[in-house]
Amino acid sequence: MSITIGSRRYLTNFEPHRLVHLFTDTIVIGSGVAGLLAALEAAEGGEVLVVTKAAASESATAHAQGGIAAAMSSADSAAEHARDTLAVGCGLSDETIVRQVVAEASQCIQRLREWGACFDSSGGELDFGREGGHSANRIIHAQGDATGQEVVRVLLERVRRHPRIRIFEHCFSIDLLTHEGQVRGTIAFHAKYGHQMYWATTTILATGGVGRLFRETTNPPVATGDGLAMAFRAGAVLRDMEMVQFHPTTLYLAGASRALISEAVRGEGAYLLDRAGQRFMLRYDERAELAPRDVVSRAIAAEMKREEAAWMHLDVRHFPPGHFATRFPTIARLLADFDINSERDLIPVRPSAHYLVGGVLIDANAQTNLPGLLACGEVANSGVHGANRLASNSLLEGLVFGRRAGRLAAQRAQRNGRIEHPPAVSHLLPQSPRTQLDIADVLNSLRSVMSRNVGVERSADRLRETIEIIEFWARYIMDKLFDEPTAWETQNMLTIALGIASAASARTESRGVHFRTDFPNTDPAWRRHVDLTRYEDGIQIGTSPVVSS
Ligand SMILES: Cc1cc2nc3c(=O)[nH]c(=O)nc-3n(C[C@H](O)[C@H](O)[C@H](O)COP(=O)(O)OP(=O)(O)OC[C@H]3O[C@@H](n4cnc5c(N)ncnc54)[C@H](O)[C@@H]3O)c2cc1C
Repeated sequence: MSITIGSRRYLTNFEPHRLVHLFTDTIVIGSGVAGLLAALEAAEGGEVLVVTKAAASESATAHAQGGIAAAMSSADSAAEHARDTLAVGCGLSDETIVRQVVAEASQCIQRLREWGACFDSSGGELDFGREGGHSANRIIHAQGDATGQEVVRVLLERVRRHPRIRIFEHCFSIDLLTHEGQVRGTIAFHAKYGHQMYWATTTILATGGVGRLFRETTNPPVATGDGLAMAFRAGAVLRDMEMVQFHPTTLYLAGASRALISEAVRGEGAYLLDRAGQRFMLRYDERAELAPRDVVSRAIAAEMKREEAAWMHLDVRHFPPGHFATRFPTIARLLADFDINSERDLIPVRPSAHYLVGGVLIDANAQTNLPGLLACGEVANSGVHGANRLASNSLLEGLVFGRRAGRLAAQRAQRNGRIEHPPAVSHLLPQSPRTQLDIADVLNSLRSVMSRNVGVERSADRLRETIEIIEFWARYIMDKLFDEPTAWETQNMLTIALGIASAASARTESRGVHFRTDFPNTDPAWRRHVDLTRYEDGIQIGTSPVVSS
């Protein structure tokens, strides 16, 4: 157990009388689908401040390609959507939540359309795509493969126009402020104004995932797990953090970023080929290329190992001429940038870290165990995904829980008065005299070790080694006071990497996206959640039974 990671409550020093204070009803941290929707709902009941660490348009949401799952076609039903979601969740889902979320999908889509979202349709009917693990065509998409951009465009325009919402861009939330057992706001670092303290009746965490902890990832630079680490430091429960989903098909070109080749491409009929040009998925699963992501990722990893290759191939050469470029214009442009002509060439792919299935534990109303703190979207664990996320269910989760969080915040704003004076909270830690490590170097090494040892396949030895390495780095990095976002991100990433490796080490079975080579089978006795909490000297690991809300 790491003493330094557990003992750190705040990453920065602050004294209230030296800083600027701002008071509002609701603070939303993050401007992806969950945060933007939460802000719009919360503004129904009071003033809202959205704090986001890059430009407001930068988020995983903006990169989402495939679409939003919603059983809206006449040949489909919410019950079937729920069945597929539960099957992929491998016994860890909260069945009530799953049923509620899929039942709300159609309403979420209607609402986005009323607000101006243009989803692809033909002859006035929505066009439903197919993705792995879904038993029906139910993926609603925009401009072929630019669904996330369309969602952000519509929500952000609305947020910017709203008279009760303010957005602070390039404003890094460092920590949640707690007083008398309640979350009261955040201490943030504004690129222009430096440290500031923001106080609110309700704080909504919508900071997204952790992909950047891994060298191979589809996630944008903002996905560094800050919200999870902040919540952990403040005393929140992190649930099932070992459950990290790896996307099977990301473009593999040495030196290029790991751009996603959407699951919808396989949904349209693409094949996965080994280096000899043979399809191999049928040897692993009867659903072949349309098996759920964890199955496809492990099959690709196994083939890569068998052939000692760094990638496999995705083949769309049999698509009708022009179809790929019309259906997937963004991906076609990306491939063209690397001189890959999908009608002639094979596409090199390999799995990369894509989505955090675990997260800050929330209930059906987006409440965490900390009074005053709500969470929604990828940062949260609502129980909808269980041990694996069904494709295109995460934008949906963000829409449903963003709305629930915002609504509750609006009610609280109307019911409870606003904080008018800063509570007496301060933090003064002396600078550590110990050697300083090079942050960039540690970050690169951390991302490599996470990809190597805590990736698609895990084992006790590799996990133990990873925990030891992280604890070593933490001794020299968690004891320091830094004054810029990259260093705080590194401290957050060390914290969450330790959490993921510790949870993966605790779960001695394979289930969903978590695969242990030393425990390759699912163990019914492990139909439990792994819960992490901070205690004085480290990370406390507990387990709890699966319940239905
Ligand atoms: C390439 C790609 C394709 C995907 N395709 C799909 C798809 O087709 N369908 C689907 O359902 N899902 C898809 N996903 C997953 C989905 O996009 C995300 O799970 C979802 O958008 C997360 O939304 P969010 O609002 O929770 O977080 P995000 O959209 O990640 O937003 C997080 C926000 O928090 C901000 N933030 C983070 N830390 C701080 C901090 N310390 N201070 C202030 N602000 C902070 C960030 O800047 C950002 O604005 C895809 C993901 C990726 C990466």
